[in-house]
Formats: sequence, C-alpha cells, structure tokens
Amino acid sequence: MKEALFYNSLNEDKVKCTLCPHNCIIKPDKIGICGVRSNKQGKLYSLNYGVVTGMGFDPIEKKPLYHFHPGENILSVGSKGCNMRCFFCQNWEISQVSQRDMPEKPTHSVDDIVSLATNRSDNVGVAYTYNEPVIYYEFMKDVAREIQNRGMKNVMVTNGFINPSPLEELIPLMDAFSIDLKGFTDEFYRKHTRSSLEPIKDAILQIGKSNAFVEITNLVIPSLNDQIGYFEEMLQWISENLGRKTVLHISRYYPGYKSTIEPTSVSKLKEFYTLATQHLDYVYLGNVMLEDGSNTYCDQCGQLLVRRNGYYTRLPGIDESGKCTSCGNKVFIR
Ligand code: SF4
Repeated sequence: MKEALFYNSLNEDKVKCTLCPHNCIIKPDKIGICGVRSNKQGKLYSLNYGVVTGMGFDPIEKKPLYHFHPGENILSVGSKGCNMRCFFCQNWEISQVSQRDMPEKPTHSVDDIVSLATNRSDNVGVAYTYNEPVIYYEFMKDVAREIQNRGMKNVMVTNGFINPSPLEELIPLMDAFSIDLKGFTDEFYRKHTRSSLEPIKDAILQIGKSNAFVEITNLVIPSLNDQIGYFEEMLQWISENLGRKTVLHISRYYPGYKSTIEPTSVSKLKEFYTLATQHLDYVYLGNVMLEDGSNTYCDQCGQLLVRRNGYYTRLPGIDESGKCTSCGNKVFIR
C-alpha cells in the first residue's frame, strides 16, 4: 500500500482523487470506483502498488503496436482494477475487482520488474497493460522512470480515461501509447463503460501533441458501436487531429464477461477496414485471421514491408536504415 498521487484532502477526512475523470470523493475506509484506491484516515492510498497479476514477454504486436519496434519483444506487466465497467470486458478477472481481492502485501518490487526487463537481451522495455494502467499509476511511474534511466522503452496500453495533470507527468516517461478508443459517442461510453468520451478525446489530443508514438484500437461490438456513421466520424476526427499516418487497429469482438452478443462478423470488419483506408494510411484488422489484414505495405510503391502471421513477424521489405528496399522511401516506423 502506497500513498497515492493526485488527491485533495476534504473536510471530515474525505478525499477527492483527481487521477481520472471520475474524480471520486471518498469517505474514510471507502474505496474509489476503480476498487484500488482507498481512504485511510484522510489519506488516499494505492492498494495495487506492486501487485502484479500477470507478467511475461510478449511480441510488441500483441499490445497492439505495429509501427513501434516491430518484431521485438516487450516485458508486459499488469495489476488489478479498472476505472471503467464494461460488461463486455475481455480481461474482467483482473479488471473488475473489489478491496477484498487485494493481497495484504505487494507481490513485486520496482527492482523485480526492472531486473527482469534488463536481463533479457531481446527485450525492448516494459509495457503497462492487461488491466488499466492508469489505476496503478504510482507503480507504473516508478518502474517507468527506472526503465527510462536504463535506455529502454516504456509503452502504455490504456483506455485513455485519465486527467490532464497526471497524464502530463507521465508523457515524458512513455515512448508509445496504444489507446483503446472504444466508440465515438458519449452515450456509448456512459451506458456501456460508465465513463465518458470527451476526457478520452482530450487525452488522445494531449498525447498526440507530444513526442510519444500513438496507435489506436477500436473494438467493434455488434449493435453497440458498429454504426458506420459514428465510425466514420471517428476516422475523420483521428485523421484531422492526429494525421493520416495514425495507425488504427480494428479489432474483432468475442463474447465474454457479462456479454452474450455474437462476435463481430467478418463482413462488418471488412466494410470498416475499407472505409478506414480512405481516411488513414495504416489500418489493420485484429483478433481475426485473414489473408491480408495485418501486413504493412510501402505507401509509395506498395512493396510488402512487414509480414505478420499471427504474432510471427518478419520485415522482408525494410533495409537496415529503415527504408523500403524497393523504392528507398523512409518507412513510417519508430
Ligand atoms: S482513479 Fe479510481 S479513485 Fe481515482 S478518480 Fe479514478 S476511479 Fe476514482
């Protein structure tokens, strides 16, 4: 248990957590909406500091990040809790928790994570992922600082529901963000995630203005967020605000947690893919095995640059200086 960052003391020993846009006001001995920040005698504590529920080396494509160190591995770390309440959550066993699910003591130290990350020569850094890393902010920040000091990369896989000040402090530590933009109406976010859209757009814009690399994922859920008009609005917004070269992953949904909605149809994914390629240069299909939804081609000459088969990645069309082997165009890869 570690004293939290970003909170204000209120009267009667209440506190206001300002880490995410819920801005929970928490009474003594109570917890916030995320289930992992608790008021003890007028101080706010992070209950999941050093609580690691999942850790392993993943291909970076799994985050998903396709244009950031493609083909490399990254130590991926997750904790418990979430600041959203999606009934279709794909990671609900670790994201939807209560205070009694928290262990008495941390399971890992910052040094444990850093040692593991640095001891493997083919590892690019650490990805904060699996559950929502915003709500293990303090631990993530402490690990990220050490990883950065060792010249390695930090990657945050996030829903983007974070307030501007904590995000501002985090951005200089992060090299890349994989952001889950779940829909493009406030109604969708309020009804199905118990959060809201505008703060997420603000966070994406804030990250977009920084030097960090950004890729966006949209999980297409039949009947909830698969209206083509809203999807096209999202594409236009991404293109206008982040640029045509922004990488978009259109991801197939499968039923899980409390959702029995049928999986996204392949025809719907293909329809969205075709539309998205009119607005953005790099669009991929995720969670589905198709002949050609995940390779990268040169945007000048069409040469195959990166071949992906599941998480098996090869870079046949990129030379050592990062240029297309066919036309010499500088490839859009960080
Ligand atoms: S991080 Fe948790 S406690 Fe803090 S405002 Fe968000 S949901 Fe509430």
